[in-house]
Amino acid sequence: MEVIESLAEERQLNFIEEIIEKDLADGKHQSVLTRFPPEPNGYLHIGHAKSICLNFGLAKRYGGKTNLRFDDTNPAKEDVEYVDSIKEDVSWLGFEWAAEFYASDYFEQLYTWAQDLIKKGLAYVDDQTQEEIRENRGTVTKAGIPSPWRERSVEENLDLFERMRLGEFKEGAKVLRAKIDMSHSNMLMRDPILYRIIYAHHHRTGDNWCIYPMYDYAHGQSDSIEKITHSICTLEFDVHRPLYDWFIEKLDIFPSKQYEFARLNLTYTVMSKRKLLELVRSGFVTGWDDPRMPTICGLRRRGYTPESIRLFAEKVGVAKRDNIIDLSLLEWCVREDLNKRANRYMAVIDPVKLTISNYPEGTTEIFRAPVNQENPDAGYREIPFSRELYIERDDFMENPPKKYFRLKPGGEVRLKYSYIIKCEDIIRDNNGDIIEIICTYDPESKPGTGEWRSVKGTIHWVSVANAVETELRLFDRLFTEADMDSIPQEKSYTDFLNPDSLVIKAGYTEPAILTDTSQIAVQFERNGYFIKDSESSEERLVYNRTVGLKSAWAPQQS
Ligand code: ATP
Ligand code: MG
Repeated sequence: MEVIESLAEERQLNFIEEIIEKDLADGKHQSVLTRFPPEPNGYLHIGHAKSICLNFGLAKRYGGKTNLRFDDTNPAKEDVEYVDSIKEDVSWLGFEWAAEFYASDYFEQLYTWAQDLIKKGLAYVDDQTQEEIRENRGTVTKAGIPSPWRERSVEENLDLFERMRLGEFKEGAKVLRAKIDMSHSNMLMRDPILYRIIYAHHHRTGDNWCIYPMYDYAHGQSDSIEKITHSICTLEFDVHRPLYDWFIEKLDIFPSKQYEFARLNLTYTVMSKRKLLELVRSGFVTGWDDPRMPTICGLRRRGYTPESIRLFAEKVGVAKRDNIIDLSLLEWCVREDLNKRANRYMAVIDPVKLTISNYPEGTTEIFRAPVNQENPDAGYREIPFSRELYIERDDFMENPPKKYFRLKPGGEVRLKYSYIIKCEDIIRDNNGDIIEIICTYDPESKPGTGEWRSVKGTIHWVSVANAVETELRLFDRLFTEADMDSIPQEKSYTDFLNPDSLVIKAGYTEPAILTDTSQIAVQFERNGYFIKDSESSEERLVYNRTVGLKSAWAPQQS
């Protein structure tokens, strides 16, 4: 699959916008009504977010509206838990739906329309088994064989269909099919099934029904009932379009039209709800909202903002051909947003102790630093400094290469917002591992006093006496393979799970973190963006890394 790595900054109208503008100019429609139609059988993922941004975005752009419609025609897999999470996620993304509908609200109307089709001689009850129906459908090169029940009379069909509804037949005993063309070049037009018998409890209609409409029969008609002007779906539905149009034409109802765009694929992840559900059930991730998941709730817990996801959807654009978007574009979008808004603090992820031998014991000095250099309104924070500090283990090297500007034996660095220190000695444990670095400081190098002295390296730090113990969860891509749709057939997608997708560290943050009131991720300087996790408690802070600070990604300038 083609990996999209460059993006135009300024964009032209996408093809759906072109269609809408034409429809409005021609007077075909006076206003635009779109819908987002999730099946409540799982949590929404970033692919759905793309569809949400597109549907709501188009309506907004043209002064129209968008409905939220739950496509709940399959009672077996659907659940209220999912309905609630979907509503929460759409709202969180920043969109308001004009109305909330359920395909199941239309069951009675759909039933009546099915009777109408029977009366017009355009539908029949078929007693063939599922297998027989499949076999007799033929192949692309071979016409199908008409069912022996295809020529039943209208009366008999009406009677049988009603008795299907009344529960007189077993599951699988009968289906209702459209009577179209058993040799049609489009296999979906070879007498598609409209209704099947399912004895299952439905999360909304309870046990009222034991026949349920198929997606193809329910979807277009639901659009039509709501008077949806532009019904946007993903590319794989293009072969369904003739059927979509056939029902609307034969029933002579509001002419909604379907348009297809390429579904969003992202590198290093999977997007099918079935696979995501398996990851949850297998326990590889902790839940649908595990910060490694491509779900909206996972991204939220990871520290993604609605703004960053909307920016991503906009950058991705609307394609007519399948492609994969590089995960680093999503990461670029969240950095773009958080760089402007995130408060800054220092945190040491992998600490080693540093003692300043010539700094007085029992003394604490306070340094002031902007909370966010990008936003003067954010004010200042106070950072305590003392004789014992934590620094990042990899900010010290005993035998560094030439251009190493961080701390080394005999070398100097500036402690961010504070003094210049010089490494004088190293203390090791019995295994030879470094457990403490001994430095001296230059009292003349205090910022804001005297002449500013420059040294090449600056490192971050936290005062031991004031440090706040913090669990830091570092996430990496969920899978090791970029294009998960192209893995070898003999392999399972679970063979490519990244065993290092979560690394937990015991670190320290500066105390100002305790008074942070922003509801979004913060920047731990030099380390990346982190958000407080819902598992944090009074006793234990937990921060999730949203994304590191740097990336190879840069959008191509046009
Ligand atoms: P999945 O295959 O992940 O289970 P789905 O298509 O069955 O997804 P639905 O709940 O039916 O999920 O999807 C609701 C809407 O979101 C549909 O209009 C669908 O086309 C759209 N959608 C789903 N996945 C993507 C994607 N990856 N990119 C863009 N739109 C998507
Ligand atoms: Mg679906």
